[in-house]
Amino acid sequence: MTMTMHNAQLRADSAVSRLDTFIALSDFDRPTLVVDLDRVERQFRALATGLGRAQIHYAVKANPAEEVIDRLVSLGSHFDAASRGEIALCLSRGAKPREISFGNTIKKPSDIAWAWDRGITLFAADAEEELEKIAEHAPGARVYIRLIVEVSEADWPLTRKFGCDASKALELMDYARDLALDPVGISFHVGSQTRRAEMWGPALDALAETWAAAQAAGHGLSILNIGGGFPAFYGEEIEAPEAYARAVMEMVEARFPNVPHIMAEPGRGMVAEAGTIVAEAMLVSRKSDRDLHRWVYLDIGRFSGLAETEGEAIRYQLETARDHEPMGPCILAGPSCDSADVLYEKRPVMLPVGLKSGDRVLIRNTGAYTSTYSSVGFNGFPPLDVVCI
Ligand SMILES: *Cc1c(COP(=O)(O)O)cnc(C)c1O
Repeated sequence: MTMTMHNAQLRADSAVSRLDTFIALSDFDRPTLVVDLDRVERQFRALATGLGRAQIHYAVKANPAEEVIDRLVSLGSHFDAASRGEIALCLSRGAKPREISFGNTIKKPSDIAWAWDRGITLFAADAEEELEKIAEHAPGARVYIRLIVEVSEADWPLTRKFGCDASKALELMDYARDLALDPVGISFHVGSQTRRAEMWGPALDALAETWAAAQAAGHGLSILNIGGGFPAFYGEEIEAPEAYARAVMEMVEARFPNVPHIMAEPGRGMVAEAGTIVAEAMLVSRKSDRDLHRWVYLDIGRFSGLAETEGEAIRYQLETARDHEPMGPCILAGPSCDSADVLYEKRPVMLPVGLKSGDRVLIRNTGAYTSTYSSVGFNGFPPLDVVCI
């Protein structure tokens, strides 16, 4: 076990004590995400310290619980919103319009107009049509162009769907100027759950070239938006948030020494480790007497909050009250009647041999990208309950 691993483990452990006390004292009649707001605050402070002069815009989609937004507003966070709903949420919790960026590159004209009316002035784009929509419904707005990241080593890459290549980005900045918009900067996303800071290097190198080309073309850029990607602990070694953020900023400053404003949009790294899902084993079975693996069915699955188990990309850590007993491999599945609702099969998980229906199963570091993915009650299983403490 390396030192970093040890620290990561300690961080994970110390994070759970307040949560665990609350969980131990509570009964839950359905799967529930419990979020420790003090832990969110610690994470914010650590990231803010490491990020130095960069302004944090929390990516609201990672966890839009009102209490989380409230705490972040009180700490001075700004917000990256992807929709009218997220903007309305941030405004209703006291964020100022100037502190909110409309960061989705795919927006409805009516939502652009609505946001502009409420004082939102900073918009993302990666295509001509999007700039036309913004120019029509938010005339003169500030826009930043999202670049595609060609190489991502992230566990949950966000490549392909968003961004454009370098030459397109330069054309879009010219076009934005022609449309009387104010092209102020460039954004990118290195990919979610980018475990090591040095993985940012290649993306930043590519970005620096485009930035220089845009300046040479006469665009006085002032905002560099470095997106999210800050990792959470899911059992594999990661750096502590402050050290990670500091390492990223060193790479940024080395390549962009004179950028007036830097924005960072952590989502997962802000909230994942602040949350634990309390779930329950609904059934433990074998398909035949020769089966090597047991099947364990939980009361939460891919369609009720654990969407990031798709492709077994994110491997959550599980904990039960029997973990001191002998352990054996299991295929882990959700409760719904969809055969895709299997969480881990290619790489089975180890669970206690004595695990029984009705046993509590804690799913660690699930504060990000769980409650948002469970908003529809697929197959009659209600959305994930959220309790903030
Ligand atoms: C989702 C998203 C983020 C947050 O990404 P994390 O990997 O969770 O930090 C940041 N910026 C944009 C534009 C996003 O869509």
